[in-house]
Amino acid sequence: MRGCRFGAGLLLLFSASWFGLGAGFSLPTANRALLEAGGGGEKYFVGTAGKPWTSGQFGCVRTEGRQLHEGLDIRCVQRDRKGEPIDPVLAAADGTVAYVNLKPSLSNYGNYVVVRHVVDRIEIHTLYAHLASVVPGLKAGQVVKAGERLGTMGRTSNTRQRITQDRAHLHFEICFRAGQNYSAWHRKFQVGTRNDHGEFNGRNFLGIDPAPVLLAAQQGGTNFSLARHLAMQPEMVRVFVRDPRFSWVSRFPGLVQRNVAAEKEGVAGWEIAMAFNGAPLRLIPRTAKEVPGADRIRLLAVNEAVWRNHPCSKLVVRRGQAWTALPAMEDILGIAGF
Ligand SMILES: [Zn+2]
Repeated sequence: MRGCRFGAGLLLLFSASWFGLGAGFSLPTANRALLEAGGGGEKYFVGTAGKPWTSGQFGCVRTEGRQLHEGLDIRCVQRDRKGEPIDPVLAAADGTVAYVNLKPSLSNYGNYVVVRHVVDRIEIHTLYAHLASVVPGLKAGQVVKAGERLGTMGRTSNTRQRITQDRAHLHFEICFRAGQNYSAWHRKFQVGTRNDHGEFNGRNFLGIDPAPVLLAAQQGGTNFSLARHLAMQPEMVRVFVRDPRFSWVSRFPGLVQRNVAAEKEGVAGWEIAMAFNGAPLRLIPRTAKEVPGADRIRLLAVNEAVWRNHPCSKLVVRRGQAWTALPAMEDILGIAGF
């Protein structure tokens, strides 16, 4: 038994350093209600004006389910004498500042900060929006630790309807960046529209629900694995891209699954399992024999139950018995560089 325990300890040590485990996520503000039984409800989430707190969650929670909210709206717990939010906003994991926007009039995110992380060999970003202010001097390239202060919660945004004091919140996202050359894609395919934020345009982000990630990271401690968490998420579509060097593979190697046939015969392309909004969950190498034909992109399968549960999803449509990819799906793959 003694030997067994020793062996297991060594294995844990090895895998922890090798795969970056233990780099779990922590809460981005002092509001800890999410960790309470029932998930905090109104104590944690802020709904849109006149709507229940559930509209502050991630998912198809806006406009009768037809509109996606790609993050969490986390309620303010500290205010100054005038009632303004003063909660410190904290980095949710170790990482590097990727972008700071200090021109609130240029974004519905207002003042916002994006931090890049590599967790379980997956490049992922966290985004902190509507900030009143950002820590002076904070800029892209700066290394930050989990729990380090990035700024102060606020109500900044360029939307016509202002965020009222009672709805003060942090809009927090955990997201993949679809592509590394978004600006070029935007210039080519979004002619006549502005891109004030380069690679950090909201269109280049594919969010995942931060709530279970924050919860699991707290409960699982160092056992939390982002790769394992993503692998367990319900997938909505499987799509094949005929490109052995598809960019997501090198940026999200933690999502790659083994396929012995492809290891022997060579990779013709990648089968991608996506969540309802296009976020990648699993990447599977495929041989030419496994996916015959010459289509550059082929829709392989759609999970109808997940599709029905996500009325804000815009990836596919059903015509008769056949599913077809919609432009939004092609845009994601286009931004990814395919
Ligand atoms: Zn929000």
